[in-house]
Amino acid sequence: MVKPFMPELVYIEPRALEYPLGRELKEKFEDMGIEIRETTSHNQVRNLPGENDFQKYRMAKSTLVVGVRKTLKFDTSKPSAEYAIPLATGCMGHCHYCYLQTTMGSKPYIRTYVNVDEVFDAAEQYMKERMPEETRFEASCTSDIVGVDHLTHTLKRAIEYFGESEHGRLRFVTKFAYVDHLLDAKHNGRTRFRFSMNADYVIKYLEPGTSRLDERIEAAVKVAEAGYPLGFIVAPIYLYDDWKEGYRILFEKLHDQLPDHATKDLTFELIQHRFTKPAKRVIQKNYPMTKLEMDEEKRKYKWGRYGIGKYVYQKDEQEEMKTTLGGYINQYFPEAQLEYFT
Ligand code: SF4
Repeated sequence: MVKPFMPELVYIEPRALEYPLGRELKEKFEDMGIEIRETTSHNQVRNLPGENDFQKYRMAKSTLVVGVRKTLKFDTSKPSAEYAIPLATGCMGHCHYCYLQTTMGSKPYIRTYVNVDEVFDAAEQYMKERMPEETRFEASCTSDIVGVDHLTHTLKRAIEYFGESEHGRLRFVTKFAYVDHLLDAKHNGRTRFRFSMNADYVIKYLEPGTSRLDERIEAAVKVAEAGYPLGFIVAPIYLYDDWKEGYRILFEKLHDQLPDHATKDLTFELIQHRFTKPAKRVIQKNYPMTKLEMDEEKRKYKWGRYGIGKYVYQKDEQEEMKTTLGGYINQYFPEAQLEYFT
């Protein structure tokens, strides 16, 4: 069982202390006896302990940086939402395939932003531009926000903010089971709480540092009982020897444990495993013993933006994944909606 995240080291930007949350977090970590250092910018944390890249990478994943979000221009977030809402960056998990390894490069530490009201004001502007249409905001594009929220409660505030909103909706996804503090948030059904689920084999070998399958299911049941609309992202769908049975067991467990009412408004998103050449190099450096199969010869090359293509599964394998997992959804959750397969 993975314990709730607790940083080994905290950095604070001086400007963060101008905000109540910044001061509150400083006091909290001081009381816990965690070492606190100052950093001029959350983008430039220097002198992380560690004698080599391998040690520094692991230390960074246990480091929390408390900062002020300066860029209030939101990225788009297709296909799951219109915009990414920036509440945190980085993650304490060690999923071997994680895209953050390449997107965050030399800054794998976890950043939390204390100017939450300014982020909400920016969200309000984006909503106004699209009115009367609704705008969906995705809170987990650059982090697993639930993994750190037991310390910051910024996600909880966002849930309550969108709970009051007429034109905005929130969604996020997590691999962590520490959801108790979110159960009493006044969400008003306007937040879709998603869990990233996978076959036990994938979680066991490729997702260290995250909650285990049964813990995630238990958390999903609590979230459903708290009345949140629920969703599951099955990602990355990964072909290993007994994958069909592994994924069948996943759907069967979900079916057996979820309360009936949660299956009426349930969404699924299916994402196959993919990798790029630069990602493969980083993964092999950070996790040299990984079981993750990344053989370019076995995959299909798909051209991508900025000339960096990705390796996905072959066409016939993709079809098989889609029919197999789509079949399980139909069988176990006939009322659920499959939002996309990619
Ligand atoms: Fe990456 Fe999500 Fe795993 Fe964190 S939990 S390491 S964000 S895949």
